[in-house]
Amino acid sequence: MNLSYVSTRGAMESASFSEILLGGLAPDGGLVVPREYPQVDAATLESWRGLDYRALAFEVLSRYATDIDRADLRALVDRTYTAQAFGSDEITPVVELEPGLHLLRLSNGPTLAFKDIAMQLLGNLFEYVLAREGRQLNVLGATSGDTGSAAEYALRGKRNVRVFMLSPDGRMSRFQRAQMYSLHDPNIFNIAIAGVFDDCQDLVKAVSADLAFKTRYSIGTVNSINWARVAAQVVYYFKAYFAVTSENSGKVSFSVPSGNFGDVLAGHIARMMGLPIARLVVATNENDVLDEFFRTGSYRVRGASETFETSSPSMDISKASNFERFIFDLLDRDPDRLASLWLRLEREGSFDLAGSVEFTALARFGMVSGTSRHADRIATIRAASERYSIVVDTHTADGLHVAQQYREPGVPMVCLETAQPVKFAAAIREALGVEPPRPEAVAGLEERAQLFTRMPADLRLLKRFVAERCVAA
Ligand SMILES: *Cc1c(COP(=O)(O)O)cnc(C)c1O
Repeated sequence: MNLSYVSTRGAMESASFSEILLGGLAPDGGLVVPREYPQVDAATLESWRGLDYRALAFEVLSRYATDIDRADLRALVDRTYTAQAFGSDEITPVVELEPGLHLLRLSNGPTLAFKDIAMQLLGNLFEYVLAREGRQLNVLGATSGDTGSAAEYALRGKRNVRVFMLSPDGRMSRFQRAQMYSLHDPNIFNIAIAGVFDDCQDLVKAVSADLAFKTRYSIGTVNSINWARVAAQVVYYFKAYFAVTSENSGKVSFSVPSGNFGDVLAGHIARMMGLPIARLVVATNENDVLDEFFRTGSYRVRGASETFETSSPSMDISKASNFERFIFDLLDRDPDRLASLWLRLEREGSFDLAGSVEFTALARFGMVSGTSRHADRIATIRAASERYSIVVDTHTADGLHVAQQYREPGVPMVCLETAQPVKFAAAIREALGVEPPRPEAVAGLEERAQLFTRMPADLRLLKRFVAERCVAA
């Protein structure tokens, strides 16, 4: 059966998976969603229980990527989820911390953060579809750390793809800088911009706003609203469910350190497909725009002065770019109401669903939320080390902290580990007084030769740099 995709705002012609794979926003400004969620009935769920990660990923993804040849998709999945890339054939192992509390390890990929799980697949999907259609893609992105490196490690060496990644010069951690700048693949261009992350993002937006340039040089992005990324993340909710239950009658809750709402949205989708999930805990840091919504019904995006730099920087967001997809479901998929809410958001910076029928019925989606402060995360890192003899990073600590409020007897709580502590060493030193454990693959990373181009925040220079290295259409 063919699954088609529509826009949350209702004004896009329905499209296939391959057609939306390389795109960003829908033409009407909305986000692309499947027309309906594929349903996994009890018998199918039972038959998936024994599958390994690759087979399970194929089952889930083949329900979304219905216009990709099944044998090709299977080969792409097999090539992506290898023990070599992810440390073991489990890909996303689950460990028990104590009875009823589990850690889902998602950060054993090449850049040691959960984004690799989706991004590595995306790299292979892009290469496949571009070759099939004889197209090129030049990915232009801005990063303050994790996303950029995950994209580069996913797209390095891929045919018909180049990556131009802007980062704020001197403002990433030594480790993050080394991770990106030590890549020397000829299709990867690291550009260190004299400025802050917002300057990088503004440059990317300005290039994308120049439609003639964008078309001529086949400029694209790989940001967190990419549908294939969300779909790839659905897989590990199923995997973890099977790991902590012995039969499909039980319910499981998940706690998810959240920023742009991509990861927890994948949990919502797994639940909509029929996975027996009790609660989805949306864990935020001091940048609590999502927590505020789930507590009060008011969604208020933050300005720059209200967006804090925290010890869990990958969750430092002023608005959550994937949130629109959840609100679409909350509004029973009414595109007109959704569009009017987002119009209000653009004009007034907020909307309020408090007292509405939909917000009152929020419980039917299982979403709850909470926030951690820096001191909570440090205390959680210490407690995890003492009680469970593990070292967790600040993002994972956020999820562990908030999860404690929502544990229920008889319902296993699975906390998503989103990064390895070596990426955020300062917090580990603060909490434990030691250096974080360092995986073999990144031994001596900071000493490797680095390759990058310094550039002022100048649109003309950037365009020239890109144009000189691309093949114009
Ligand atoms: C991206 C990221 C998050 C937040 O995930 P979203 O999908 O944006 O909600 C949390 N932790 C780490 C380490 C990340 O890199």
